[in-house]
Amino acid sequence: MCRQFFDEPLSLHTSFRIGGPARLFLVPKSVEQMLCALKLYPGAKLLGKGTNVLAPDEGVDVVISTLGLSNFLFDGDLLISEAGVLLSKLCVESAERGLSGLELLYGIPGTIGGAILMNAGAYGAQIADVVEWVECFDGEQMRILHRSQLEFSYRDSVFKKRNWLVLRACLRLTKSDPEAVRSKMEKIMKKRLETQPLDLPSAGSFFKRPHSNFYVGKAIEQLGLKGFRIGDAQISTKHAGFIVNLGSATAKDVIALAQTVKQLVEKHFNVVLEPEVDIW
Ligand SMILES: Cc1cc2nc3c(=O)[nH]c(=O)nc-3n(C[C@H](O)[C@H](O)[C@H](O)COP(=O)(O)OP(=O)(O)OC[C@H]3O[C@@H](n4cnc5c(N)ncnc54)[C@H](O)[C@@H]3O)c2cc1C
Repeated sequence: MCRQFFDEPLSLHTSFRIGGPARLFLVPKSVEQMLCALKLYPGAKLLGKGTNVLAPDEGVDVVISTLGLSNFLFDGDLLISEAGVLLSKLCVESAERGLSGLELLYGIPGTIGGAILMNAGAYGAQIADVVEWVECFDGEQMRILHRSQLEFSYRDSVFKKRNWLVLRACLRLTKSDPEAVRSKMEKIMKKRLETQPLDLPSAGSFFKRPHSNFYVGKAIEQLGLKGFRIGDAQISTKHAGFIVNLGSATAKDVIALAQTVKQLVEKHFNVVLEPEVDIW
């Protein structure tokens, strides 16, 4: 049986700390239970660690969490993981085995499933670099897709385009020196701590980079918007690409703030911003 919760506040399950109740919140503990839940509730919202989601203030009907899919194993330089395992955990476990490939992604706070869905990336690396194959559910059946079929591009994948559920993935890593891997990860974490407002709830960079040489955070900063707020939603004073929750921000505050920023950026830079965060 899936674990189930009623009227579960989504603010407890999102890094923004925003979101009304899920009338039904399911946590399947195996792939079989997950498929069962998806067949019973085909319109359900899927949630990993909730670090790239803005959930509505009025809540949603059914949410299915992937966090119960928490098994992984190493086979030589291959790492096979279910969707609900945290990417940071996989980074640490890989480092302990002297396996390189995930270091630059260390500190991305979501699950491996969420990372594959949106081809998460940082500091010039992206999860697409190491994915070998993915097992997914297309709404009717399970499929295994080889890396050539994953249609990865900037913050996009076949799973995002087609609304398919990532169940399991195989990553190909490279044998390296454990100390070198660990030290690279430490440097990355230090950089994140220095440049990102990790002390306040957020969903990371709110907008996608519209093209490779346009830096959204810098543009917003140039407009003098650092610290600008609507309600308790604020443009971070540390990194203008982040919208942070100062305490009791609502989804409506965040959307209003994002809308204002989008309009100003379009007016001054003639660039149309799109959210990276999934607004439910
Ligand atoms: C402080 C901070 C820093 C961040 N830094 C980065 C960064 O450097 N680079 C970056 O790319 N992102 C970054 N993010 C955003 C986020 O961590 C990533 O996008 C992460 O991959 C999301 O994973 P998740 O499990 O939290 O997904 P969720 O937020 O739970 O879900 C996001 C979307 O993915 C869907 N989803 C989740 N799991 C699955 C699955 N198994 N199959 C299909 N769909 C699924 C959900 O339905 C939702 O639409 C940051 C976020 C924060 C808060």
